[in-house]
Amino acid sequence: DRVLELEGVNVSYGKVQALRDIDLHVDPGEVVGVIGPNGAGKSTLSDTIAGFKPYDTGTVQFRGTEVSTLTPDKLTEDRVIYCTERRDLFGFMTVAENLRLGAYTNRDNLKDRLEFVYDLFPRLDERREQDARTLSGGEQQMLAIGRALMGSPEFLILDEPTIGLAPVIIDDITNALEQIQEEENVTILLCEQNVTFTFRHADRIYLLEKGSIAREGTAEALRQDK
Ligand code: ADP
Ligand code: ADP
Repeated sequence: DRVLELEGVNVSYGKVQALRDIDLHVDPGEVVGVIGPNGAGKSTLSDTIAGFKPYDTGTVQFRGTEVSTLTPDKLTEDRVIYCTERRDLFGFMTVAENLRLGAYTNRDNLKDRLEFVYDLFPRLDERREQDARTLSGGEQQMLAIGRALMGSPEFLILDEPTIGLAPVIIDDITNALEQIQEEENVTILLCEQNVTFTFRHADRIYLLEKGSIAREGTAEALRQDK
């Protein structure tokens, strides 16, 4: 049963075709990367998957259900969580409060889950009672990822999680992702410009070029003919 499947997807903004005949799938337990330079279509792809951008032709399905007919119950049951490039935090709430908001699918073991996220991100642990608006950009990104993890995702969509971040922060995010891959076998779709980061995490990678998939393969295969 595929977690996500796109077939023959075309998306345009007026006359500009942003995605061209996209076939893409994510199987359970996979970490799939989508790499492309600015303007390649990554944001359009994640917006299409999340249902923000209507597509002209094709199908986009989560576990066999077309995105346009998804319900909150179904997404909650399938534990699909989308961490946008915009982060969508609440600035006048503390780190702890933002994290608690992420637990809407998973209220039972809230305390344990909070501790799990604080273990993953020591910088958040040290700033539990600090308002999100006072965090650095990198810390806000960690908080956005931490909040997504509070919901115990089975399928996590990450849109440009390392954009504009300092290398030390990227290292912390790398460690956290490696830990959740190891311990929780989370299925992940990772849309990124950062090639090194994506090759580090992804089992399989799609290269997006001007709205089309130029290459697809295991990280190993693509690394060899890079
Ligand atoms: P990426 O996220 O990889 O940088 P985008 O998905 O933002 O790429 O953009 C893909 C293409 O669609 C680009 O040619 C971009 O100029 C165009 N595009 C994106 N958003 C809009 C929009 N709102 N209106 C018109 N064109 C857009
Ligand atoms: P960066 O260089 O990554 O942008 P900042 O200079 O924004 O980092 O922040 C450095 C540190 O200071 C961070 O740990 C952040 O949590 C803390 N900080 C930044 N602004 C405030 C503030 N207004 N109140 C309290 N702590 C802050």
